[in-house]
Amino acid sequence: MNQKRQEQTDRYYKSGGFYVPDDSAQRRTSAPRRRGRRRGCLTIVLVLILAIGSLMWYRSQAAARGDVTPPALNTAFSIQHPIASVKERDAEQATWGAISARDPAAMEHELTLEDAFFHRATTQAREWQALLTSTPQHFVPPLLGTLVVTSPFGPRVHPIIGEELEHHGVDLEAAAGTPVMAAARGVVVWHGNKLGYGNCIVMRHGTHLSTIYGHLSHIGVRTGQLIGAGEVIGLSGSTGFSTGPHLHFEVRRDGVPVDPLPLLTPSVSVTSSVPCYTSRGELWNQCRDTHI
Ligand SMILES: [Zn+2]
Repeated sequence: MNQKRQEQTDRYYKSGGFYVPDDSAQRRTSAPRRRGRRRGCLTIVLVLILAIGSLMWYRSQAAARGDVTPPALNTAFSIQHPIASVKERDAEQATWGAISARDPAAMEHELTLEDAFFHRATTQAREWQALLTSTPQHFVPPLLGTLVVTSPFGPRVHPIIGEELEHHGVDLEAAAGTPVMAAARGVVVWHGNKLGYGNCIVMRHGTHLSTIYGHLSHIGVRTGQLIGAGEVIGLSGSTGFSTGPHLHFEVRRDGVPVDPLPLLTPSVSVTSSVPCYTSRGELWNQCRDTHI
């Protein structure tokens, strides 16, 4: 600064007593230069606002979709694609072929695999937000109005396979496209397509209970999404091993299928087109149904 003043003083004396403006200083502060600098700053601020805005918008959209990236500990639900090699692909195609041809052995085998899958999917969520929700005492009905059971829980002759198999849930009458609701507050731990269950959603409710909604025509939730009781999660359909539109509603306690009917809120009105029995062997309709 002192040096600059000295230069100015020198210039003054050298110029014979006339003030000579410091042109370098003038250049630095000239109006076009100031405008240019201001425009540059404004551009940077605008670009930053746009970048931060788009990032926030993208993240809010992802959150709205429930597109939450699960933490690394939750790898149980990153189910790997079954086709890992050409050999496995051929095996998979053979299975598809057999199932398309309605081969009972292939279909039964597929259901066994799916049972193991759902056991894993409903139990391996030890480290996730699924555990933060409370375990419900009762379930609200997954469909509006009176529930009509078309196939109860327990052993039955499978309508397609034609052999006696355990039915792991209850089949509820539902026209195609009927809204399906979450039976309790919980977290979606898996959704996707299975050959037997068709399009299905798996929800976890606290530490022990899970629900599965099968044969859907539409899935309206994402894995990791927290859903309230009675919230619509999809639409009923007839995907998978199904003879017509209905909802397969399944409850698993620690991965093991249990009869969902006794777990429904006592006020839920249920009727059935077939006899339903309690775990004690009593006709279930006689215990609770008021709509026979
Ligand atoms: Zn079923």
